[in-house]
Amino acid sequence: MRFAAAAITLTFTSGLFAQDYNKPPEYAIAPGVFIIHAGELLAVAGQESVKNKSVVISGGVVTAIRDGFVSASDVDDHDNVTIVDLSNYFVMPGFIDLHVHLTGQAGSSRKISFVEDSDADSALTAQMYARRTLLGGFTTVRNLGSRGNAMFALRDAIKAGKVMGPRILVAGYSITPTGGHADIHGYREEILDALPSSGVCDGVDSCRAAVRRQVKRGADVIKVTATGGVLSETATGTGQQFTDEELRAIAETAHSLGRKVTAHAHEAAGIEAALNAGFDSIEHAMWADEDTMRLFRKTGAWMVPTVYPITAVGDTPEKMARGPFGNMPPPIMEKLLRLGRQPKEMTRLAHSMGVRIALGTDSGVSPHGENANEFIEYVNAGMTEMEALAAGTIHAATAAGIDHFTGSLADGKAADLVAMPMSPLDDISAVLDVRFIMRDGVIFLTPELAGN
Ligand SMILES: [Zn+2]
Repeated sequence: MRFAAAAITLTFTSGLFAQDYNKPPEYAIAPGVFIIHAGELLAVAGQESVKNKSVVISGGVVTAIRDGFVSASDVDDHDNVTIVDLSNYFVMPGFIDLHVHLTGQAGSSRKISFVEDSDADSALTAQMYARRTLLGGFTTVRNLGSRGNAMFALRDAIKAGKVMGPRILVAGYSITPTGGHADIHGYREEILDALPSSGVCDGVDSCRAAVRRQVKRGADVIKVTATGGVLSETATGTGQQFTDEELRAIAETAHSLGRKVTAHAHEAAGIEAALNAGFDSIEHAMWADEDTMRLFRKTGAWMVPTVYPITAVGDTPEKMARGPFGNMPPPIMEKLLRLGRQPKEMTRLAHSMGVRIALGTDSGVSPHGENANEFIEYVNAGMTEMEALAAGTIHAATAAGIDHFTGSLADGKAADLVAMPMSPLDDISAVLDVRFIMRDGVIFLTPELAGN
């Protein structure tokens, strides 16, 4: 019965109903106070969960966590209180994915989006995928590389409450050398010339400028392709592409402007070059070996393994042939087939050697909205359920430099939380069954809307 009150609030937060144009934007921070009755609460992954707690939320932030199920009369601002009954649910911080590409998805279209989509097309596509990502339980994501200004517009529209989606940290163009992984390949020269990227740079000064340009354009984080990559149509391998000097200049410049800097890197030498250059994190780290792991430990950098996409596209040649990448051009196919079970084995080694791991998926390679499968991959690679949950909440927030306002539930932090009927501490696959989602104090999904 108590849920009826929350359902009324949803008439203007869900967008499922006729809009009153005198009201604030559809997903703006909800006025009033929420009291969430949590049957089991994991406020900080890594600390113990507790039964029967009340999370008090006002103005989009957590203002108190109290023992037992408190009522409206127990809080100061008790005139406009909505009680949310999650007494049969496991409540925890919203999930965080440090590596997505919201402007596209493999296998979703035969179109060549690079040359056919305007920035406006990309923004609308990204909005659809952002919505799916949020409904998968992810209240914050990092978009690591996109063309044009679509992602900046989407980030700002979500923040302003105009459209539905997770909080997004946007990288802008990936920083890449000429002909490197994030440069464009496989088209006529006239087309390549017509699609410049402000992230392409060669040499120390040019690379400093490329980083500064992304920050000027609005980048929250700097993404660098330190090595070759799998899905670029070029037979140049997956080894180091930027020089040590270039990597150092990029990292220094990003840090001088107050941005985290993260490197896409596959081969061990390229990963180690980025670690030695002072990068905050490494994406993929596919062929990191024991020496590389020791260097991770020494520098304290985070690893973002991105395991699930390889499961989704096929970790054997047979599965891959049937998947969305079954018809890739030869230079890509050759690199894809080399991946196999390597990401799973690499993650197992990293965890066993005590490397700090934060969750990222590379969604867009795998379907948007399926991001939570990455938690399951980590448990399969040897993490405890609690360690996996920490990787996708507090550790991801720390790696991204946003742990002062999200990643855990505590007084003053954003009201970013999810709930599920089963405890993911008992069975990690519970993360695939999220029934309640709140971001910045706005409810986006309730058990009733989820069909239960
Ligand atoms: Zn990526």
